[in-house]
Amino acid sequence: RLVNIAIDGPAGAGKSTVAKLAAEKLGYVYIDTGAMYRAVTLQALMDKIDMSDETNLTRIAESVDLALRADESGNTRVFLNGVDVSRQIRTPEVSRNVSLVSQVPGVRRRMMQLQKEMGARSGVVMEGRDIGTQVLPDAEMKFFLTASVEERARRRYAELIHRGFTVTYDEVYKDIAQRDNIDSHRAVAPLKPARDAEIIDCTGMTVEQVVDAIAARVSG
Ligand code: C5P
Repeated sequence: RLVNIAIDGPAGAGKSTVAKLAAEKLGYVYIDTGAMYRAVTLQALMDKIDMSDETNLTRIAESVDLALRADESGNTRVFLNGVDVSRQIRTPEVSRNVSLVSQVPGVRRRMMQLQKEMGARSGVVMEGRDIGTQVLPDAEMKFFLTASVEERARRRYAELIHRGFTVTYDEVYKDIAQRDNIDSHRAVAPLKPARDAEIIDCTGMTVEQVVDAIAARVSG
């Protein structure tokens, strides 16, 4: 029987890698909700919208055409109004601004509506901040991945360098700490584990260990 799996947690906890591999292993569809907030942020930056202008940020969220598609290797490609922006949404500029955009209630309302539609069929692994609490509160399996800020900054730094971005460890550390702070304290859907989520502290665990732990719970 197919179920839905919610994976939440702070930036850099390894959610994306783990969710993608778990989906592959189980034959499920992987959905990266952070990519959607990033795409809205990219559009707002291109339109030179002020990051405190809730009216215009909401308008953008409601008017953009967003599509997530898996490529041959299972990686998510993100299309914004038909254009592949998978790389542009990972820039430090988008990372610095995305938490400001995602705290706007109108933006969240639209993203949540799209995400609920994506989760309407079973067999998805959906990853984000509020999947277990808000988007798919009825998901059969919920996991909340955490790790120390240092470990998360190290991982995210390595990933960005690997992708060819020019950043320093200190910049990444600051970005992660700042986003955690905004994401955890915003008025709407703050980052926190669902009551029925299993919390996995990934500090010192390998990706394989985390994926195996999740797959074992789903098939067990
Ligand atoms: O997962 P990722 O780090 O790409 O998410 C980028 C940002 O998008 C987060 O820092 C958070 O502000 C926002 N987000 C959110 N709710 C989600 C997914 C992401 O608010 N479900």
